[in-house]
Amino acid sequence: FLIQDPKYSFLKELGLQDKNVGVFNGKWEASGPVIQSFSPANGKVIAEVQTASVGDYEKSVAAAQEAWHLWGEMPAPARGEVVRQIGDALREKLQPLGQLVSLEMGKILPEAIGEVVEYIHVCDLALGLSRTLPGTIFPSERPGHVLIEKWNPLGLIGIITAFNFPVAVFGWNSAIAMVCGDVSVWKPSDTTPLVAVAVTKIVESVLQKNNIPGAIASLCVGGKDIGETLVKDDRMKLVSFTGSTAVGQQVGVEVQRRFGRHLLELGGNNAIVVNADANLDLLLNAALFACAGTAGQRCTTTRRLLIHKKVYSEVVSRLKKAFAGVVSKIGDPLLAETLIGPLHTPAAVEAYKKTVAEIVKQGGTIEFGGKVIEREGYFVEPTIVTGLPHDSPLVKTECFAPIVYCIEIPDLDTGIKYNNEVEQGLSSSVFTENLGDVFKWIGPHGSDCGIVNVNIPTNGAEVGGAFGGEKATGGGRECGSDSWKNYMRRSTVTINYSGTIKLAQNIKFGD
Ligand code: NAD
Repeated sequence: FLIQDPKYSFLKELGLQDKNVGVFNGKWEASGPVIQSFSPANGKVIAEVQTASVGDYEKSVAAAQEAWHLWGEMPAPARGEVVRQIGDALREKLQPLGQLVSLEMGKILPEAIGEVVEYIHVCDLALGLSRTLPGTIFPSERPGHVLIEKWNPLGLIGIITAFNFPVAVFGWNSAIAMVCGDVSVWKPSDTTPLVAVAVTKIVESVLQKNNIPGAIASLCVGGKDIGETLVKDDRMKLVSFTGSTAVGQQVGVEVQRRFGRHLLELGGNNAIVVNADANLDLLLNAALFACAGTAGQRCTTTRRLLIHKKVYSEVVSRLKKAFAGVVSKIGDPLLAETLIGPLHTPAAVEAYKKTVAEIVKQGGTIEFGGKVIEREGYFVEPTIVTGLPHDSPLVKTECFAPIVYCIEIPDLDTGIKYNNEVEQGLSSSVFTENLGDVFKWIGPHGSDCGIVNVNIPTNGAEVGGAFGGEKATGGGRECGSDSWKNYMRRSTVTINYSGTIKLAQNIKFGD
């Protein structure tokens, strides 16, 4: 196991061992199958994790429900104080947790640390929210009456997360849900189980210090079976699901079947529209990170460049040069000189190979890359494709790898049309210096995505805004703005202090 190698001593700093328990419900106890966690950089086993059986899941739900009685009644500012301490505990473990994310997920260390920082930022945001959670009073049309909007916690929620943001996505949900008064059961991706155990240990340490039952932040590492059980469980008032569109669609239907609430954060097929007047230095700088960064494994990775015909050749040739400049910097994501790490699994490499073969078969040109890199681990070349039609099924499909399609456009209107013609609606960006075009882009006939940027890449969101996308991206919004509403139920309360009964709309009934 890599955990025995002194090079990875940060694993022990996080309380991880050769064999870890993947279920926490106040106690660490698991009885499901044992799985291995691999480093995508070399294919070696880091350590083992015992996963949740359905029985373990049941115990965790029961413990979380029990713990909710205490947590749901605590004043929100007191819950905020606990979340503040979680932020501080994460600050203390920033380096080792970032290193673990890099080792187990495969993204480069600065991005892995950035992901932990994102969780810390959400804790800060949630702390403020805990003292400002709104409740409105509306004027009543009836004398001696008052209309109040009262928000209460949902209770128990399920959080299912994807492999590519194994810390941040849990943090976005958990920190906000905690101040809202909810308790959660987290089912992380079964290919990043060590990150989930390490994060839960950090949260546990804070809960313990504050004498709060650990079950308010329960963990059930497991695969599809645990995910499906959670989704069908009508004790889960909300299922927050982050993952692929295909799985998210099933999740949405299942949760709807039982009239539960869902928050879906699904796949993207994000475009940058390059206007004729774009600042190309800015664009190239942004596009390199957006297309090739994280080895194409962000939901917000740029997969399509919609480039004005006047600058098309220049953009493609400069992008090829930029890609060539980073090829020597593909490697071990934990090393300081690395800019691009591996794909996460051998299956992802297969999907990349299959897509590249299909591109060639359909007459596309591989302008750059297109090959698997011959070395240990799951490395591929960042890839630039030209020559495919804008509406080719390949271009319209999210392949979770660093492949970008360059497509020529005659004008901004066509760029907007192509941007919007895919089924997904997560992120988008335009590069332009023209103010009128900016407003067209962000207006009613502009980009139909949840994230609509100008002169920045499609990826790299901040926590203050609501994060999520439209259409097949699922429609959910997480993190900032009013996303907290997802985690609470609203009651409209009318209180009569007039001493007489008056009906609304002045309806007379009887005398
Ligand atoms: P995935 O859909 O394969 O898995 C996501 C999670 O769902 C995992 O925990 C998995 O174990 C679980 N799961 C699998 N089958 C299930 C089922 N039938 N019922 C319930 N749970 C089930 O996705 P992935 O490969 O881990 O992640 C990559 C995908 O996630 C990409 O499509 C990416 O765009 C998307 N993503 C979206 C966002 C966003 O915010 N929109 C963020 C990150 C990733």
